[in-house]
Amino acid sequence: MRWSERQRAMLQVIGIRLVVPPVAAAAAAPVAPQAPVRTEVSKGASRPAPLPQAARHPGLDPGAPSVAAAPVAAAASARADVATLGWRELRDAVASCRACALCESRQQTVFGVGHLQAHWMIVGEAPGEQEDRQGEPFVGESGKLLDNMLRALGLTRDEGPPERQVFIANTLKCRPPKNRNPVPAETALCAPFLERQIELVQPRIILATGRFAAQALLASDEPLGKLRGRVHRYRGVPVVVTYHPAYLLRTLSDKARAWEDLCLAASVVRGT
Ligand code: URA
Repeated sequence: MRWSERQRAMLQVIGIRLVVPPVAAAAAAPVAPQAPVRTEVSKGASRPAPLPQAARHPGLDPGAPSVAAAPVAAAASARADVATLGWRELRDAVASCRACALCESRQQTVFGVGHLQAHWMIVGEAPGEQEDRQGEPFVGESGKLLDNMLRALGLTRDEGPPERQVFIANTLKCRPPKNRNPVPAETALCAPFLERQIELVQPRIILATGRFAAQALLASDEPLGKLRGRVHRYRGVPVVVTYHPAYLLRTLSDKARAWEDLCLAASVVRGT
């Protein structure tokens, strides 16, 4: 099993110690080359193998053997690798990511869409079936509701100036099988991508939709109900938490509260 520097560092970041047997350690020594810059990912192209099960879902396999610890500096530098990518390289890094098992079941990664300097950034949970098929976030039923909510604020995912056209991204870039909840290791492994997207967009507001997006961004385990109704900060960027559109489709009575959240976010952008 070969471990790229980035994979090692990611595991280090989420607290997994790697113990590489001597032969594997020798094989793992060279750092895997960066994927070439591409604008499209060809489906079915030969790709490196994903991490082994124990490493992919460490939380699910507490008895798994550990491997030689990657130096803390490597963890920092791998994060730094993603942290310096431009849009094109970041898109390619997401498209070729094999850091967790979701790469095996996905049809394609879902990077995100929108204005690259959008004032509003919408963060969801993970691609669903439609998104996995089409490669765009929030294109299913919950996406239609999200579009309507945005429209009510004068916002859109369609072409427009940065104050009108939002940027939409997910916490996870790959669909969890059968739309199951993300596991913490997947969220941790995917986090640098969203972090870098936020750094590049530099939005004036982040609207975190649903518990997973909110908890991941705010590094919190508070329930959504407790996170709503106030303005948080993610690396200095204001964050407002609201219900996930899929939840609102099932619980119409909470739409009024969601509207309050949107109004709170709008007031942050207006500076009032
Ligand atoms: N739900 C999400 O959180 N994101 C999507 O892209 C689709 C559904």
